[in-house]
Amino acid sequence: MGGPTVRFLGGVREIGGNKILIEDGPDRVLFDFGPSFSPRVEEYYVDYLQPRSGSRAKDLLEFDLLPRVPGLYSKEALADSDLYYTEPSVHAIFVSHAHADHAGYLDLVDPTIPVHVGEGTRTLLSAIETSTRMKYGTHPWKVFTDRAPIRVGQIEVVPYPVDHSIPFAYGFLVRTSGGTLAYSGDFRHHGPRAADTHAFFEAVGKEPVDALLIEGTRAGPDRRKNLSEAGVRRGVDHVLEEGRALAFACTYPRDIDRLLTLYAAARAADRDLVVSVRTAHLLTEVAPRFPSGTVPVPGQSPGIRVYARKKLTSFVWERPYLDGALPAAEVRSNGPKYLLALELSHFTELIDLRPPKGSPFIHSMSEPFSEDDVDDRVMRNWLKHFGLTFHQMHASGHASGPELVDLIRATGARAVYPIHTVNPEALEAAGPSVHPPELGRSYPLVGAG
Ligand SMILES: [Zn+2]
Repeated sequence: MGGPTVRFLGGVREIGGNKILIEDGPDRVLFDFGPSFSPRVEEYYVDYLQPRSGSRAKDLLEFDLLPRVPGLYSKEALADSDLYYTEPSVHAIFVSHAHADHAGYLDLVDPTIPVHVGEGTRTLLSAIETSTRMKYGTHPWKVFTDRAPIRVGQIEVVPYPVDHSIPFAYGFLVRTSGGTLAYSGDFRHHGPRAADTHAFFEAVGKEPVDALLIEGTRAGPDRRKNLSEAGVRRGVDHVLEEGRALAFACTYPRDIDRLLTLYAAARAADRDLVVSVRTAHLLTEVAPRFPSGTVPVPGQSPGIRVYARKKLTSFVWERPYLDGALPAAEVRSNGPKYLLALELSHFTELIDLRPPKGSPFIHSMSEPFSEDDVDDRVMRNWLKHFGLTFHQMHASGHASGPELVDLIRATGARAVYPIHTVNPEALEAAGPSVHPPELGRSYPLVGAG
């Protein structure tokens, strides 16, 4: 038998969908398990055509959109699929962060396999489960501590916090019986936790590692404008200073950093930040995971309000926020007092809000061709119809191509595998150690490259 290996079961030439299997003798550990955003899944499944809820695994296996790993899936998930159930032989799953493309298939996993996550990620996943249709299944959840090693057989995993567009994101150092590997997860170093990313890559450089698995979302040509989180704040301040009307901002629903930026900007401009009921629930749940007073809690903190959408029914989890929520009529008549965080899926509220022509709309998300793709054309039509002024202001969750090249060089890793990218070759600029991996292939940890 050979030494430890790493196998890429997803995230190869696609953004998201990382599924990395490390095998060391009898020990098998999987890192991340979610759907990719592009482009393989979209060849078969789009908005209106999705796997059936009762046979997701079967419907995904049909097009090889799930890896055929024995001993990973639950009996229930495999049900009438052509992959037969076998006793669990994957001994642990580590989830780098709570984005859907890293955690979204956990509900298919055998319920006896332990799932390791950061404490904050556990909180985020359960808040998402409560307030959306997303389900992560039942597992023996294991909550890890920053930089505290976890042993799975002869494999040792050390989780390092990194900066990303969702808090509580991790990279991992993985020590095996023969060689060390580093897996970056998703990261950037232009956000509020940049120092965490630097500390992780310093640790990687110190080992130094035999294999570095690095995300490359923004590798290759990218014309999209990117600001730092501080740059977004300056931009929002500027828009709010100028405008004497209701202001809108649109962000990713779990980007807590961006919500904090908008909140701080709104406070500085004497406005209240108005959020959806779902965001209110998320903020309430995650606030205790941050230093006291960092994250505003609707109903408790000043300057944050909840928007009351027109709905016929409400869920139990929504009810605590509905008393005192602002209806459209209030937001409309006192527009200059508010900065309204409005998701694209809630644009119908504009029909009641009827903002004055020229009111600012801050698009604080990736421009098209992104992880969480939006239908740009529809958005533009709505903005035009209501005469809103568009402002693009975003700090990406990912490091840029040139930053990735510099980081790779600095680590001195013996072999580098770019994943979570459609353009892995772009990182070959970092040197001959860079190898775009092949889907499904096993690479020996030592002696590869
Ligand atoms: Zn992510």
